[in-house]
Amino acid sequence: FARRARSLGEVLAASARHGEREYLVTADRRITFAAHARQVASVACALRDEYGIGKGDRVAIAAANSPEWIVAFWATVSLGAIAVGYNAWWSRPELKYALGHTRPSLVVADAKRAALLDGVPVLTVEEDIPRLAGRSDATLPSCAVAEDDPAVILYTSGTTGRPKGAVHTHRNLTSVIEFHRLNSEVARLLGDPTEPSARRYLLGVPLFHIAGLHNLVVPRLADGSTVVVHQGGFAAERVLRLVEAERVTNWGVVPTMAHRLLEHGNLARYDLSSLTAFTLGAAPSSPAFQQRLRAELPAAQQGLVDSYGLTESSTAISVATSADLTASPGTVGHPIATVELEIRDAFGEVMPDGSAGEICVRSPFTMLGYWEDPEATAAVLDEDRWLHTGDIGVLSGGQIRLTARRSDLILHGGENVYPAEVENALAEHPAVRECIVLGVPHVDLGQEVAAVVVVSAAVGEEELRAFAAERLAYFKVPSRWRIGTEPLPRNATGKVVRSEVPRP
Ligand code: ATP
Repeated sequence: FARRARSLGEVLAASARHGEREYLVTADRRITFAAHARQVASVACALRDEYGIGKGDRVAIAAANSPEWIVAFWATVSLGAIAVGYNAWWSRPELKYALGHTRPSLVVADAKRAALLDGVPVLTVEEDIPRLAGRSDATLPSCAVAEDDPAVILYTSGTTGRPKGAVHTHRNLTSVIEFHRLNSEVARLLGDPTEPSARRYLLGVPLFHIAGLHNLVVPRLADGSTVVVHQGGFAAERVLRLVEAERVTNWGVVPTMAHRLLEHGNLARYDLSSLTAFTLGAAPSSPAFQQRLRAELPAAQQGLVDSYGLTESSTAISVATSADLTASPGTVGHPIATVELEIRDAFGEVMPDGSAGEICVRSPFTMLGYWEDPEATAAVLDEDRWLHTGDIGVLSGGQIRLTARRSDLILHGGENVYPAEVENALAEHPAVRECIVLGVPHVDLGQEVAAVVVVSAAVGEEELRAFAAERLAYFKVPSRWRIGTEPLPRNATGKVVRSEVPRP
């Protein structure tokens, strides 16, 4: 495009120019851009003609990652309908809640999820989508959509309560594509000769989250690069072999996956020389852990990236390069181009550099609002369309450091304790595999600092307390401890589900 596309349908129509290059690759299938466009046209016609799907209707997708998920997504948005990503691990009651919430006309589901769905037409990923994709005479339906029409609803992780449905418009997503295009253009002008189409991205994170859909799948249809789809659960050996065999260049993971790679061990036996970027995101990773990754994963030595964003922000808010992470451990980097960022106090006043406050952002990527929830929308989006992220952070030298979710901040006898700072300090101890720091009620102090620590070797409370005291002010040192070997409960994006953590 010489200009930003105006709708996802336009992006899809233009993808034909990438012709016989590979768009989607799995361990046993290769789908070119041309074949993908044919399949999408065929499915879109079937959705329209056989199921009456049209503008504004919702088509939910409740399935683990597969090329069919992606075909169903593009078919839906090309009709001006709204693609709704359901979490592929949701149970029957969670799916029931989501069905009542977004009221889809149709659900595309894999066999496991189909068995849990009642009272709604279902098309299966295994049989129905391949069957509907097979019509060779179908032409892509054209549909007039306005840029601010909803295109996608993705649910938040539900870390702080029920998942909320963030609505993203065509403009939000075409702006993400434009951001990627400008990035490549700047890289080219600075002398990086790599054509975007030469990149091969590994899709190992779920499609029902922004990291998978908005960052890996949508921009790739525009820039002609390849998405290598890892299927069947995250298994270190299989995923490493896939990266090796498919010469993956860009790999994005949530920290839990990176942990599993390190636990798998001896990564030098894989040829990962094709990797130029290894991106962490969606959940905190401590500087000590990033240091380990750099030491053990060759691709992370130069190409480690940490990316911070929310479902509501559609794409990253900030990105820390390898150089940023080395120069200022604990940073999540600079706000990306076109994102305005301010740190505000509880009264909405902008705070000076170096002070902790709520991270607020405004950008063309920011969601329209939460699906049919004006109250929740008004709580996070103000009238000037600033998104109040609920994350507490500090801006210093242009870089952001996250210190806590607003809801996780510990108020200890008049002092604010930021869990991330304590967690990062404890993570430096060689026996600490993972840890979480929480506030627990205290009669006089309001809250006490408590640590739940998962260890890989025997270590006692006294030793950890002394270790923390060497690194932190006395009021930040946890006074309550729970030390064990049982992993922390985590959700699909790898975030610790604080409400389920056993209290000390
Ligand atoms: P809910 O809003 O339902 O409670 P959630 O906020 O966990 O769920 P997501 O949109 O998946 O839903 O997560 C966004 C949050 O994840 C951010 O607000 C931030 O707290 C955290 N996060 C994202 N990226 C990073 C990162 N690189 N480092 C640390 N934390 C991160």
